[in-house]
Amino acid sequence: MSNRGGGDHPKIQLVRGDITKQVVDAIVNAANSSLLGGGGVDGAIHRAAGPELVQHCRLLGGCQTGQAKVTPGFRLTARWIVHTVGPVWRGGTNGEPEQLASCYRESLARADEVGATSVAFPAISTGIFGYPIRAAAHIAVATVRTAATSVGVVRFVCFDDETWDAYESELDRP
Ligand code: ADP
Repeated sequence: MSNRGGGDHPKIQLVRGDITKQVVDAIVNAANSSLLGGGGVDGAIHRAAGPELVQHCRLLGGCQTGQAKVTPGFRLTARWIVHTVGPVWRGGTNGEPEQLASCYRESLARADEVGATSVAFPAISTGIFGYPIRAAAHIAVATVRTAATSVGVVRFVCFDDETWDAYESELDRP
């Protein structure tokens, strides 16, 4: 694990691993707009949290792209799950960067509302939704670095080498 930054904005940590195993107050799910589960990290989180999660999510009425909604973590170590819906990559000129930045801001806003001070994020939109990892890592880091939030620690959880490399080079930039 590597620690970066400090001061008024969240301290940033970078780890390799599985987000469902993180010991933090809240983990973020890269969900789809139904909030009823899917593949990738969404499927892993639903499997680890247990069937209570989808039952709870059915009451939420879905979620729009760039927005976020919070649920309990159920069987996870994390007390909360913040579900956010990233943009599907359609070339980058259809509002995708703004929507992806909004996912990070809105997720931190939901974390603030429930009093979570440590939050783990996956690389939202960079799997099934096709967002190029380097561009996505740039937005993730820039948005978290400048976020107005009470969250003290943000952990980026990298599932593969390419994701780790993209965040690593982004964090090395001033
Ligand atoms: P999206 O639909 O937003 O693209 P995906 O789940 O397909 O979401 O992928 C988002 C990122 O999450 C990808 O980098 C993928 O490798 C990663 N990922 C998949 N499973 C996990 C997991 N258990 N923990 C952390 N990251 C994961």
